[in-house]
Formats: sequence, structure tokens, C-alpha cells
Amino acid sequence: MKYYVLSRGDQTSDELMERFHQLAAKNGMQRDDLSPDIVVSIGGDGTLLQAFHHFLDHLDHIAFVGIHTGHLGFYADWKPNELETLVELMSQSERASENKRVEYPLIEVEIHSGGQAKTYYALNECTIRGARSTLVAQLCINGGLFEMFRGDGICISTPSGSTAYNKSLGGAIVHPALEAIQIAEMASINNRVFRTLGSSILLPKHHHCEIVLMNDQPMFITVDHLPIEVNDLKSIRLRVAQQKVRFARYRPFPFWDRVKEAFIGSKHDGSPQ
Ligand code: NAP
Repeated sequence: MKYYVLSRGDQTSDELMERFHQLAAKNGMQRDDLSPDIVVSIGGDGTLLQAFHHFLDHLDHIAFVGIHTGHLGFYADWKPNELETLVELMSQSERASENKRVEYPLIEVEIHSGGQAKTYYALNECTIRGARSTLVAQLCINGGLFEMFRGDGICISTPSGSTAYNKSLGGAIVHPALEAIQIAEMASINNRVFRTLGSSILLPKHHHCEIVLMNDQPMFITVDHLPIEVNDLKSIRLRVAQQKVRFARYRPFPFWDRVKEAFIGSKHDGSPQ
């Protein structure tokens, strides 16, 4: 098996990366920085986002695994003290052809500016915000005007990204088995003159939405952790991407267990303290 490791770059993650290389060599795994089968990210969810964008052009034959060196992550779900077990499972499953993979949906983001269109893919979300003033834009669903949005911005997230920025905006947490995108508002202006729905919306795979700008003010756009530079932005079209991202699963760790562990914890189980 060919593998690549990306470290967050802090001392703990770098040391763990070195240890990973030693264990991998012992288990007959081959380091390959250009065309790996498995990409291991060591750090946090942010590190896995970086790994995802680094290997965006290889998604059809790569699976990701995350080891967290901080708190529990949604993409990084192996602990540092489980490193030996992970490497063993990786090499065994390769030999036995037991490659268990789960696939999560992505967002296809098509940015139209100055007569051109450019496509990006988001693992967590795409956000659009007014850089200097209120975002004023039409939100269209399947080609028809849904609402005129005025406010700080709009966040469109994947199911696996629903636990990130989307959650801070009050959006719902969505299981990644659902092929959908979620539109969440950022501080919309609502009064007798301006009106938005006020709730998050989930669009299924065969629907799309478009954010059409009503003025030429500067906007701040992000795709995951990446700021996107755009001049003369006209509109952004978003939908569930055809392509998915794959994660190698060497043991079960259900999504709702991860949500519970990250946001609720075992202290809050209702029993008297
Ligand atoms: P960052 O500001 O360094 O990290 C943002 C936090 O989001 C980190 O704690 C990160 O976890 C966590 N995170 C990333 N993906 C997640 C996911 N799918 N579920 C739950 N938590 C997640 O930025 P970054 O490391 O470059 O990551 C960019 C991401 O930050 C964006 O995609 C966006 O979702 C998120 N963000 C959130 C807010 C907000 O909640 N108000 C604002 C801006 C950006 P780790 O510590 O494990 O890396």
C-alpha cells in the first residue's frame, strides 16, 4: 500500500508522523508523496481539510484517515496512542483486501465572474460575505427566485461540514449518508421591509441554488479554509457534487457517537452530579 502523511506541523504531530513512517516501513507500506492510496492527516480537522485540497485531483483513488493531536475531530478520529493499531490494521486490511471505505458528499461551487466560470469543491462549506457592507443578493433555488437576502452572508455546507461553521450559525447537523447541501443564513436583516426565511434549508442532490449579487461591492468568499480571490463577482452556483470523498474506516465509529463526544460529552447524561 502506498501512503502519504500530512502533519499539522507542531512538534507532537511531527513526532507522530516520524513514528508513523517507522511503523509503516516495518509493516511493508510504501511512502508515496505523489500518488498514494491512503492519505493520513495528523493534527485536526483543519489538517484534513488541507490534505483534501492538496489531493483534490486524485479523489477517485484516494482514501483519507485522520489522527487528532488536539481534541477529537470529525475527520480526525484516531488518537495518538492508537497509532500502532492503526498502522497494523491498515497493512492487514490491505493484505486481506478488506478495504472498508465510507463516502461523504461534497459541494460543487461554480463561481461566475467577469464572463468566466471557475469550479471549486468544498468538504465543509462555501461562505459568501460582504467584505465591507451588507451582502445583498438573490437566493435562487432551481433557477427561480426564492428570496432577496440582506445580511452578513450565506453559508452552504456539506453534511460532514454541518458540524463546523454551519453549527455555529444554528444550522442542523446532517448525517453524511444524506446527499444534500444546507443553506444557512448569517445574521439576515428581517423587518417590515426586508424578509428572509430565517431557517436553514436542505437541498437534495438533484436541486441547486444560486446566489446572484445585486451590486458590485467586494465580497469575501471561502471554500473550506481557503479564501477565494474574485474580481467582478456575478453569481455562485452550488449543488451536491457528483464526486465524493472517501475515508478509510478500520473500525466503526458512528457519526452520532462523534457528535455526542464532541458536543455533549459523557458528563451531561442527565444523571445527578
Ligand atoms: P480554524 O479557525 O483554525 O478552525 C476552526 C475550527 O473548526 C477548528 O476547531 C477545527 O477543528 C474545526 N472544524 C473544521 N472542520 C470541522 C468539522 N467538519 N466539524 C467540526 N469541527 C470542524 O480554521 P481551519 O482549521 O482552517 O478550518 C476551517 C474551517 O473552520 C472552515 O471550514 C469552517 O467550517 C470553520 N470555521 C468556523 C467558524 C465558526 O464556527 N464560527 C468560523 C470560521 C471558520 P480542528 O481544531 O480539529 O482543526
